Amino acid sequence: MNEYVVLFKDAFLGYARYLGHEISHPHIKNYVYWLIAISVVVYMLEVFRPWRKEQSRIRRDFWLDAFYMFFNFFLFSLIGYHALSQVVGHAFQQLYEQLGFDPVVILDVSAWSPAAQLIVLFILRDFIHWNVHRLLHRVPLFWQFHKVHHSVREMGFAAHLRYHWMETILYRTLEFIPLALIGFGLREFILVHLFALTIGHLNHANFVLPMGPFKYLFNSAQMHIWHHAKELPPDKPYGINYGISLSCWDYMFGSAVIPHVGRDIELGFAEVETFPKPIWRQWLWPWWKKD
Ligand SMILES: [Zn+2]
Ligand SMILES: [Zn+2]
Repeated sequence: MNEYVVLFKDAFLGYARYLGHEISHPHIKNYVYWLIAISVVVYMLEVFRPWRKEQSRIRRDFWLDAFYMFFNFFLFSLIGYHALSQVVGHAFQQLYEQLGFDPVVILDVSAWSPAAQLIVLFILRDFIHWNVHRLLHRVPLFWQFHKVHHSVREMGFAAHLRYHWMETILYRTLEFIPLALIGFGLREFILVHLFALTIGHLNHANFVLPMGPFKYLFNSAQMHIWHHAKELPPDKPYGINYGISLSCWDYMFGSAVIPHVGRDIELGFAEVETFPKPIWRQWLWPWWKKD
């Protein structure tokens, strides 16, 4: 047990040191400054080419979402997720060794070119996330957590990272085994993360990028706004347009719905008006709701 406490402590302090170093040392692979840079660029697009022209530049809940953005991207990891995942990974490894298993790799792509590996990871990870996202809508307890993301009433780029910290745990846990089955030869997946971050910001932005035929491949603000629609089609009561970065899964599996231009549709879910405003109550919501 002591071994796990030491591992947790070392990982926690290691991540804290890493984050401090990242903030004080800007460089090309620095997530902190990339998050800021991508956010500023997408925000400028919202300011100079807004889709909903009457929407305030500092829209409702802008600062709440800005906090969520940094919390979910960095602080949650700092507070313990990173340390906890090290411990869980170590425990899995020990269990494997005790049971005499070799780690199973069903597809070894480690000899492929870095670009091919990045594309495989991007597509695979997005498909796993599409499935996890569907579960968040279908499993009643998961939906209670996911309501935080759907409590957005006015859409803007920062809403992308408004979500309950339990979602990080669910996504990471559910992607852990499928991704472990692929043998990657790369350690640095920053390009995949930054590409997904940019698409996610654009999907939530008050800005539309004309997609042309690419709408069948990539998600967009035009499509994702319908995912946040307060009123869902009667034959799709759980949700529509679950895509994260790619829209093709929704077109392939019949959950793509864009009835008309959704620029001004009402967002949220039934009884969104009574959803708590303070962040700490949003975090406690699934365990502490009054109804
Ligand atoms: Zn959703
Ligand atoms: Zn969203």
